[in-house]
Amino acid sequence: MNIKSKIIYNRIILKISGEFLQGKNLSGVDNKLLNYLIKEIKSILPLGIELAIVIGGGNLFRGKYCKDNNNLKRVLGDQIGMLSTIINGLLLYQSIKNKLINVYLMSSFPIQGICQGYNAFQAIDLIKNNIIILTGGIGNPLFTTDTTACLRGIELEANAILKATKVNGVYSKDPVNYSDAKFFNKIDYDYVIKKKIKIMDNTAFILARDYNIPIHIFNIQKPGSLYRILTGKMEGTIIKNN
Ligand code: UDP
Repeated sequence: MNIKSKIIYNRIILKISGEFLQGKNLSGVDNKLLNYLIKEIKSILPLGIELAIVIGGGNLFRGKYCKDNNNLKRVLGDQIGMLSTIINGLLLYQSIKNKLINVYLMSSFPIQGICQGYNAFQAIDLIKNNIIILTGGIGNPLFTTDTTACLRGIELEANAILKATKVNGVYSKDPVNYSDAKFFNKIDYDYVIKKKIKIMDNTAFILARDYNIPIHIFNIQKPGSLYRILTGKMEGTIIKNN
């Protein structure tokens, strides 16, 4: 069977958190994890799926640190957080480029000489021949890169959002503390919103629900998990409308 006949999506947004890149370090980027990530991404290229990556920045800075630690303005912290996503994006960009893969980086706000500003129509053209890295969040304080992933997914007419995490998917309760926690293969948006499931923020869920775009929550630390989702295998949790 042709490998491409197995794929379930033509265009996806992959959300990678800063926390994943950090690994066991207290902050920053673990090079081993970065290389592992590139290997997982490379493995899906033969499928020919159009891919945009939204990268977080929590390994370097989060807006809430300002408020919690230094009594600095939250907006300032968020601006630093957004800049952090660009730092991660630049690292990811160079690492992907080093493997001779076509890649393009955009930021919600341009930085002259470093990165171009995001433009949805340009991104839709470029995604046909390049992996697109989307940095800078949505460019506004008080949001997250999870919301960015959903928003860009809608704008770029992606078929799904894939949120790479360190957990296997969505459970009814915290599986570390409750042995009777139930794992969901499939779940609907109204449930995760009503139960305040914290795996993504509600703004992200509401956007995805209203624009009817599914979200896969999966454990990127399991080798091959990304490939398995894209070829229709059971992996992680899919959140969608009923
Ligand atoms: N951020 C923001 N607006 C956005 C996206 C991100 O202000 O649209 C800031 C916010 O402070 C956030 C930080 O950037 O804490 C890093 O993003 P996020 O927490 O989503 O990163 P992740 O948890 O995925 O590493």
